[in-house]
Amino acid sequence: MSTKLKLWLSKELRKEILNMGLEKAPCETGGMLMGYVGSQGDVVITKLIGPGPNAIHKRSTFVPDHNYQMKKLTEHFEGTDGQDTYLGDWHTHPAGGTALSALDKATVSRIARFVAEHTKHPIMLVAALNGDEIEFGAHRFEKHRYFWLTPSAKTSLMRVVID
Ligand SMILES: [Zn+2]
Repeated sequence: MSTKLKLWLSKELRKEILNMGLEKAPCETGGMLMGYVGSQGDVVITKLIGPGPNAIHKRSTFVPDHNYQMKKLTEHFEGTDGQDTYLGDWHTHPAGGTALSALDKATVSRIARFVAEHTKHPIMLVAALNGDEIEFGAHRFEKHRYFWLTPSAKTSLMRVVID
């Protein structure tokens, strides 16, 4: 029996990811995940933050518009009286699988350092696009790793539940 933690995503948010993904394909896009963590460590995504106007979209990388992300994050946090918080990032792989690239692992490691006081297990949600289909890989940060001197991360897979 699987003991994977679950990540809950509504059909509407799945559709949002698909639409934002198709808009930028064949380049990547992404943003932030907002929501809350249940008592057992399962997470519920309640809102996505998009890339922002100054994001950089390339075929195998994506750099979000940091100022935009921070502004939206603060707005949503205040709008929900702090109930919803930052859970991690999401991005698309328009022509790839759901695994994290070496660069993604370095990004997860950087995020984990940045938000260490807030959450020990930030999530990187990868949305692999294939026409109108999405295959999700929800990677939960577990601990820091290094390959030579390059920061990386050990992650565990969560089970994505579309509801
Ligand atoms: Zn990636």
